Formats: sequence, structure tokens, C-alpha cells
Amino acid sequence: MSTHPSSRYDAVIVGGGHNGLVAAAYLARAGRRVLVLERLPRVGGAAVSTRAFPGVDARLSRYSYLVSLLPRKVVRDLGLRLDLRRRRIASYTPTVRDGKPTGLLVDAADPGRTRDSFRALTGTDREWQAWQRFYGMTGQVAERVFPTLTEPLPSRAELRRRIGDEAAWTDLFERPLGETVERAFADDLVRGVVLTDALIGTFTHAHDPSLRQNRCFLYHVIGNGTGDWDVPVGGMGAVTGALAEVALAAGTEIRTDCEVTAIATDGRGDAEVSYRHRDGEATAAARRVLVNAAPATLARLLGEDPGPAPEGAQLKVNMVLRRLPRLRDTAPDPREAFAGTFHIAEGYRQLETAYTEARAGRMPSAPPSEIYCHTLTDPSILGPETLRQGFQTLTLFGLHMPARLFGDPAAKERALAASLAQLDAVLAEPIADCLATDADGRPCVEARTPPELEREIGLPGGHIFHRDLAFPFATEDEAPGSAAARWGVATAHPNVLLCGAGAVRGGGVSGIPGHNAAQAVLADPDR
Ligand SMILES: Cc1cc2nc3c(=O)[nH]c(=O)nc-3n(C[C@H](O)[C@H](O)[C@H](O)COP(=O)(O)OP(=O)(O)OC[C@H]3O[C@@H](n4cnc5c(N)ncnc54)[C@H](O)[C@@H]3O)c2cc1C
Repeated sequence: MSTHPSSRYDAVIVGGGHNGLVAAAYLARAGRRVLVLERLPRVGGAAVSTRAFPGVDARLSRYSYLVSLLPRKVVRDLGLRLDLRRRRIASYTPTVRDGKPTGLLVDAADPGRTRDSFRALTGTDREWQAWQRFYGMTGQVAERVFPTLTEPLPSRAELRRRIGDEAAWTDLFERPLGETVERAFADDLVRGVVLTDALIGTFTHAHDPSLRQNRCFLYHVIGNGTGDWDVPVGGMGAVTGALAEVALAAGTEIRTDCEVTAIATDGRGDAEVSYRHRDGEATAAARRVLVNAAPATLARLLGEDPGPAPEGAQLKVNMVLRRLPRLRDTAPDPREAFAGTFHIAEGYRQLETAYTEARAGRMPSAPPSEIYCHTLTDPSILGPETLRQGFQTLTLFGLHMPARLFGDPAAKERALAASLAQLDAVLAEPIADCLATDADGRPCVEARTPPELEREIGLPGGHIFHRDLAFPFATEDEAPGSAAARWGVATAHPNVLLCGAGAVRGGGVSGIPGHNAAQAVLADPDR
């Protein structure tokens, strides 16, 4: 029996992920009556902070951790209280050359130092010059593409015109990225560092003819017109906290522990949303249903065929350390090396080998990953005692770990051990010696596989972007008629819109699909 009365809303939002909150905030501020239904006991979806280890006062960004794609326009429009902090070091990639440990350091604030590092690694300035040309090109594309993400979808031809650089268009939108990377760079390590942005959250390879890797790369280099990835001060929970605050202040009703079980619509009148809560079941009637859950989940709620299942391909590891480990390469201070993106086993050929192994259903023999130490940029996520003790957090995002590898329950431990072994290979001491211990004496390390992400936060197949990313333009078969189609948030039902990562121009912590779904609703008030 229902204890929640049936009620009618201008918009019911299925899921209180950060995008659902963005949509809610825009609509409630425009005077709409908005209800958010979230299945978990808390909002934020994949953008949350957690005290993951008992007795250890560190609020870790448990899933997502860096922000690039959240437009300043959204921050301004909603008056979000957010502090995004630039990392001084872009990346460090340890390697071995001529039998000696060395590495490539990209210092965002010091081009001269970066040039010296390229020269020391490769022997000439050729790769450094290629790097500058390549990222000069992506920077120009970023400046032109990013503002379009919060406008109605351009056509392919229109976006191409706006970019105004035929060579860049061909390289990024038409030819497999591997061709461009191999033409531009000669060094295997440099090629690998560039390619990683095409693989984070996307299970693919440099020459994939479907251009999945190009789409993933594009989203990683266009954020706010620069492609910089910043640390949210206070962790991802601070981003969600700021969004929930403005959504609630504008009058949004947010109900947690409410799992939507079905959406019924004939596409014309109100849709009916059925949900389960602690004390029973209830329904809400809505002129519009905005779906923050993934498209595959939406299909299930509508009783439709979800199509091919998405598959995530990453291992996320969170650690708390008593101190940073020493490196085999003694040139950079570990406080610098870990301040940016620390690439492990991400040479170009290593990435290819790991992909080939994982595609065949085998655990990569040398799992590639990236490591981040957020406390070097934002110590505020540590409590006073852990801060005083000099603790640091470490996040590992492992690539080429598709859901298919985790059928066997022992696979997770093997994946974790193999990933940490690759890290150990570049350290002068094992990472295990640096781990803090929790109140029960256990080492502070937790890992999440794609199937665990599906169970915990409802990502189908553990896919971090809900499904493969789309190029940010209208495809020819999309009916341009409705406001929802113009904003890239349409479904097969006129009164059901996507407002999450699975929309065109979704994916990542961006708020963009939330913004765009709200604009589509506001553009079409009489539907
Ligand atoms: C491990 C990991 C690391 C990542 N790192 C980064 C990063 O550093 N930077 C970045 O930009 N992106 C990163 N991403 C991707 C990014 O976090 C996601 O793409 C983004 O958070 C998606 O936001 P969303 O609001 O669209 O959806 P979600 O965060 O998935 O939220 C959807 C919400 O809907 C709820 N829901 C689902 N089904 C129902 C239902 N039936 N009823 C009610 N509620 C329901 C879910 O519980 C969830 O709260 C990462 C993701 C993961 C998993």
C-alpha cells in the first residue's frame, strides 16, 4: 500500500545523479514543480565522496574525481559554490631507457622544463615540437566545439564549419586517431600518453574504424575550451553538494531510497512513474519524465528492448597512504610526480597488447593505469589528524579491464594485484609499505570492478558514460523537429527525455545533459 500520495508534477526526474540535479535546478528555478526520485539513500550517482575506510578521516571521491567538462556557464547560471583547482603538473610517465629509470614530466606551468624533459627522454626536440603542434590543434578545436555543447545540436556540416580547420576535422572526426598519433609522434611512450585520453572509459584501440576512440578523446580535450582537468576542492561530493543545495533552494522535491520501477506513457498526456520506497509503492504523474538513469535502464522501465548491453572496462582503486612512495627515477620529487596524471604501463604498444589480451577474455599481463594524488592539490579532504600525520590519497584508474573478465570472483583480486605490481615496478619501495591501515588493522585499499559499479550505482555493465559517447552533432537520422531532438536528449517518446550521461553530449561530470534536457523542456512549454 502506498504511503506517498499520487501527485502531479511538471517534471519527474528518474535518478538524482549530478545531471538530474542540474536539470532539477534549472527547471525549479524556472518555476516548474519538480520531483527527483533516487534509488540510493543519497544523491550524486557516480559523483560522490565517501569515508571508505573505518577510522580513517579521508573523504575520497569514490568513483569520479576530476572535473573538466562542467561549463562555467552552468556554474554561473546556477550560482554554484565550487572551487576547481588547477593541477600544476599535467602528467608524469615513468619508464626505463638504456637500462636506467627515467620519465616524461609535463609541467603545465613551465614549458621550458617540459621541453627539457622531452629532450632528455627522446634525445631531440622533435617530439616536444610535435606535442605543441598537436595540442595547439586540439586547443583550437576545444575553443570552437565546447561552447556548442550548451546550445542546440549543430549539424555535422555546421560543426565542421565552426571548427574551420579541415586537417583537424579529418584527424579528429573522420580518421581513426591512431593514424594521427602515429603520423605526429615517433616515440612509443609519447604516443601512449596521447592515446590514453582516447581510452579512458572506452574499451577500444587506436585504429577502431567505428571511431569510438576519437569520440572519447574529443571529450577529454575540449573541457571549457582548454581540456584542463581540475581537482574539485572538497572532492566530488562537494560538486554534488553544491548542486543539491541549489536544486533544493529552488523548490525541488528530492526523495532518496525511491527506485523507479516503471514508466508508462502513451506519448501524449501525462506519463506515470511508478516507484518503490521504504514503506511501499507509489506513483507520480508527470507532464515530462527526465531520465538521469542510463538508456538501457530506461528501456527496462518502459518494458522495451534495451539493445546491445554496454560494457565498462575499468578498475577503480582508492587508497590512503601514510606517505608517498619513493620512485626508481629519482629526478622528480614524488610530490611533483604524483601531483598530475601518473601513467603506468601506458606505452602505445603496451596499450595495444593489453587491449588485445582483454578482448580475448584474458586479464592484461601488464595492466595499464593512471594514478592521481588529489591531496597534493586539495588537502581539505583529509581530517585534521590524518593531515597532521602527512597522509595522502591515491586513486588508480585501470584501463582495459572489461566486465567480461570478472565472471570469476577471484578475478578482482588478480586484477588488483596485477595493477599494483605495475605500479611497484616504477617505485623504489612497494606501495604496500606505504598504505595506511584502518581501524581494524586492514590496509586502506578498495577496488571496484565494472560489475560492482553496476550493482552499486546502477551503471549498466559498469559503463562510466552509461553508453558509448557520441560525436557532438546531430546525426542525419535524428528528426530535428522536437525541442528534445534539437537538444540531443530525445527518446522514442515525446514526453520522456534523457538528462544523463547517455544523452548526446553526455558522459563525464559535466551537467551538460542536465542543462540541455531542461532547456528542451523550457523551449517547448505547451507540449
Ligand atoms: C570509477 C569512475 C571514475 C570516473 N571518473 C571521472 C572523472 O574523473 N571525471 C569525469 O568527468 N567523469 C568521470 N567518470 C564518469 C562520470 O562520473 C559519469 O559519466 C557521470 O557522473 C554520470 O552522471 P549522471 O548524473 O549522468 O549519471 P549517474 O551519476 O550514473 O547518476 C544516475 C543516478 O540515477 C540513479 N538511478 C538509476 N536507476 C534508477 C531508478 N530505477 N530509480 C531511481 N534512480 C535510479 C542512480 O542511482 C544514480 O544516482 C567516472 C565514472 C566512474 C564510474
